[in-house]
Amino acid sequence: MSVPHYSLFIDGEWVDSPEHYEIRSPATGELVATVAKGSTQHIDQAVAAAKAAHASGVWRSKAPEERADLLNAVAARLAERADELAVLQTRENGATIRVTSTLHLGLSIGQLQYLAGLAKSYEFEKPGPAIGPLPAEGILRREPLGVVAAIVPWNIPLLVIVWKIAPALAAGNTVVLKPDEHAPLLALEVAREFEAAGLPKGVLNVVVGDGEPVGYYLSGHPDVRKVAFTGSTAVGKSILGQAAETIKRVTLELGGKGPNIILDDADLSVAVDGSLFAAMANNGQACEAGTRLLVPGSIKDEFLAKLIERAKTLTLGDPLDPATDVGPVITREQQQRILGYLDGAKAQGATAAVGGGAPDGPQFQAGNWIEPTILTDVTNDMTIAREEVFGPVLTVLTYDTIDEAVAIANGLRQRLARHQPELPLRRL
Ligand code: NAD
Repeated sequence: MSVPHYSLFIDGEWVDSPEHYEIRSPATGELVATVAKGSTQHIDQAVAAAKAAHASGVWRSKAPEERADLLNAVAARLAERADELAVLQTRENGATIRVTSTLHLGLSIGQLQYLAGLAKSYEFEKPGPAIGPLPAEGILRREPLGVVAAIVPWNIPLLVIVWKIAPALAAGNTVVLKPDEHAPLLALEVAREFEAAGLPKGVLNVVVGDGEPVGYYLSGHPDVRKVAFTGSTAVGKSILGQAAETIKRVTLELGGKGPNIILDDADLSVAVDGSLFAAMANNGQACEAGTRLLVPGSIKDEFLAKLIERAKTLTLGDPLDPATDVGPVITREQQQRILGYLDGAKAQGATAAVGGGAPDGPQFQAGNWIEPTILTDVTNDMTIAREEVFGPVLTVLTYDTIDEAVAIANGLRQRLARHQPELPLRRL
């Protein structure tokens, strides 16, 4: 099978570059595609194109309904190709085909349609407050900002891309999208569908490049009015600092260490399956993954026995096989990082009740594999209980009272999936 090559999408043109990335399957090391490697000069070109497209009014002066129709047309085109694109996503980032066809493709297309619908109903202009004693009436009008930079990670690329670019475009902005260099293919496929659906030149630009210098340069660019970023907390902090320098708006979606609290009257079989899904879906590479399982001491033994028995049935293997539950992690570096966390956890006293390392077997030699892992005997002061691992690793902590569970759940700096104290815990 010939290996496809992807170029950058700048000002409505497909632009190659002298340097290329090799995108390899995290499961097998097979070459999936080559991709033009963008530079800071490409960012300059893309931002200039987006700025000119904004100034020309070619997109912002369209009625919101027209912009929504174009977004819906792209959603329809993606839906027609959903099976093919799910396979491409699985080959590129190793998420299992069950997850790429549902969470990556299905949900993203649904979200694109939803956001297009919002453009149709949103009140971009309405009567504003009266202006004091003057014989004048106020008008409240929501204007697009101009050039929006969207910087996204590799774990669920399409969904994060949709969440960034659909609202920006629906509101009439122009966009420079920088996908992650490990998984840029869906971003370029999306650009292809926007081009085919008739998006004017320069309104959406896609530049694949390294985080540094390319992402860094984009997020500090003086002609970018807003940065929408999803990724690690460290990079989020850097972007916030740059935004202060250049006075930009910023939206950050950062890392997590999601707590999952089991109550003592839970239906245990539902809770066991839900806990494994929360921790292992997308091979454990999800910001909101429920990786800190909090189990009441009163049912700990019974719950753990069921959890361990069920976890041992999870299949690790070919992510293209619909029977597979857990696939590889994105890179060899990430695999080594996770193995380091597992060694550290064991050294601090945790027990690997299931998994706990890299799997044996010839089928696992070429890829980046971690066994689905359940760690018990974990205490809240251990590194493994506090830092984001971003792999198929579930840590089990115990608690005695609900207040203690909530305090542990909310006790970390990562703020995704916190329990809001004013809301009651919901029984599922
Ligand atoms: P990362 O921060 O290293 O990379 C994310 C993106 O930022 C990539 O496109 C990368 O090239 C770019 N980048 C890297 N350095 C940059 C810099 N200095 N300036 C500007 N851009 C830069 O993230 P990662 O480790 O590859 O992705 C996983 C992280 O993303 C995890 O922490 C995960 O929790 C988080 N994440 C969060 C959400 C959410 O919705 N909160 C969703 C998915 C992933």
